[in-house]
Amino acid sequence: MFKIKGLLNRVYAARLPSIEDLEQILSLQKDEEIEELFAFADKVRKDFCGDGIILRGIIEFSNFCFRECSYCGLNKGNHKLERYRMDKGELFKAIEYLASFNIKTVVLQSGEDERLDVLWLTDVIKGIKSRFDMAVTLSVGERSADDYRLWRQSGADRYLLKIESSDAALYASMHPKMDFGKRLDRLGILRKLGYQIGSGNIIGLPGQTLKTIARDIIFFKRGDFDMIGIGPFIPHQYSRFAGLKEGDARISLKALALTRIVTKDAHIPATTALGNLDKDYRRDGLKCGANVLMLNFTPQPYRRLYEIYPHKEAVNEPADFCNSYIDNIAKDLGRFIDYSKADSLKGTDLRLAQETSLVGG
Ligand code: SF4
Repeated sequence: MFKIKGLLNRVYAARLPSIEDLEQILSLQKDEEIEELFAFADKVRKDFCGDGIILRGIIEFSNFCFRECSYCGLNKGNHKLERYRMDKGELFKAIEYLASFNIKTVVLQSGEDERLDVLWLTDVIKGIKSRFDMAVTLSVGERSADDYRLWRQSGADRYLLKIESSDAALYASMHPKMDFGKRLDRLGILRKLGYQIGSGNIIGLPGQTLKTIARDIIFFKRGDFDMIGIGPFIPHQYSRFAGLKEGDARISLKALALTRIVTKDAHIPATTALGNLDKDYRRDGLKCGANVLMLNFTPQPYRRLYEIYPHKEAVNEPADFCNSYIDNIAKDLGRFIDYSKADSLKGTDLRLAQETSLVGG
């Protein structure tokens, strides 16, 4: 019955677990073994993060993007998509609405919009900081070190820059004209500037193997990331990966659980993508290591136009639905809603002092 207990304990205790051990866990097929993995991850979540379900409110303020990521519906070649940029008035109205739910983190997200003015976003950050008691997370892609510095000095707390795959060849195959090394450089700059930084990957990408996913988890561990988002691949009909098979929910959940066991105290969301498969798997995510929920506060009509992948569950979820949804989940799971800013659980000194390479040999 406890066949994999030793394996899980070894991975948990290791400073850096072996790829082989991670791969073996990712390949588990028996229900009882997978349940044991999930229960182990849930215990690690409880020990290191507590029982709070942290809420983050996301506002997608522009869907313009000059990139051509093969998995994404916002790719610049998608001429069917109606593009938008919210103005400052619309954005602050959405932030006020978010604040009325007592949520203390706003995630400002956009495509890589060439017309995103550094000073415009600087003003937005300063405005949020002066009017609300709120943490600001940015997710606007690769920018110059000067832009990152200015935003940080203006009060931005966190930055999401997912790697999607830590395998340089796989990364290159789905990110035309992007550079893996440059991505790592940006992460290094963000860390030096003192941002809490978020990474993450996509499960089920064409060409990805369990070994690739195991390496991603090692990448997360080495990178000592404050936040890690793991979501299944969902093909978009107007992307280069149109028509391909979507990512497997079980593998996604196994990867989430294993990431919890290996990284221990990173904030890990039950991603919106997990809610968009054949059923809503966000609750399952919260039961196997996740401690964060992202709620979408992008106002209509923009919300339906921010279509990285199709049929987003949250597209039709008004915020009050979200509220009862999360209350019910928390009650069912014996957890509580954490309305704090919920900064990183990692020691700031440790993060700033860390000079280790993000990719190991
Ligand atoms: S993943 Fe991000 S950078 Fe790539 S096309 Fe989509 S919005 Fe643009």
